[in-house]
Amino acid sequence: MNFSTDGLVIKEQMIKDGNKVITVLTRDKGVIRAFVNGVDNIRSSKATATGLVTYSQFEVYSNLKGKYVIDDVHAKDVFMPLRNDMKKLALAQYFCELSGQFAPRETNAEETLRLILNSLYMIANDKRSCEQIKCIFELRLMAVSGYMPDLVGCMECGSFEDDEMRFLPESGQMICGKCLKNDEDKTHTQTSMFIGQTLTKAMRHCVYSEFGKLFSFRISDRAAAALGEVTEKYCTLHTDKPLRTLEFYKQVKDLPPEQR
Ligand SMILES: [Zn+2]
Repeated sequence: MNFSTDGLVIKEQMIKDGNKVITVLTRDKGVIRAFVNGVDNIRSSKATATGLVTYSQFEVYSNLKGKYVIDDVHAKDVFMPLRNDMKKLALAQYFCELSGQFAPRETNAEETLRLILNSLYMIANDKRSCEQIKCIFELRLMAVSGYMPDLVGCMECGSFEDDEMRFLPESGQMICGKCLKNDEDKTHTQTSMFIGQTLTKAMRHCVYSEFGKLFSFRISDRAAAALGEVTEKYCTLHTDKPLRTLEFYKQVKDLPPEQR
């Protein structure tokens, strides 16, 4: 079976004889693994188009063993500005690893692909801070991957807003200050994180806004840092292994620009 699809390379692994295996988040088939033959010259256009964090058009076929092989490939975007800044590249690689964990397999992944491509564009072109893009990506990715949080109101009383609102990352629900106080028996087994009014609003935007407006909000660096703790916790609680790329991002994110 042959097919043609566009997709983003989210993992690459060299194997022997100048061949490699890549994992691609494709538009039409979600996450797939495929062999790429003859990429010993790393400057070849085939090697470039199948490199990590590259968006390409792929022609794919299944070999006799039922494995996918890349027949032909053309790079559409290599996100060059990401490659000159270790912090941006580290964040892009984290997005790739996270997509590999949550994106659908063998089925259409249009929404996830669009989310990651737009996020990479925003980081590459300095449209928003890395910290804010990270929050948006994490939360929206979870929402489109079967972990839609319930941010409509307090899980107990339905209250829409509360200065003491808290988020429960295990269940993806919210609880207001009053209900938490009255209800410690029921919720004490779950960790809750303070979100108050500001972060409740920001989280609702990340989850419920139309895609076209997803990136069009701004929050202070301080709020982004607080939001980042919540969105990261929500993601990492639902991954089955520690994310190596997240650790790396944390190591480089506070380096001064001249050292990245
Ligand atoms: Zn309540």
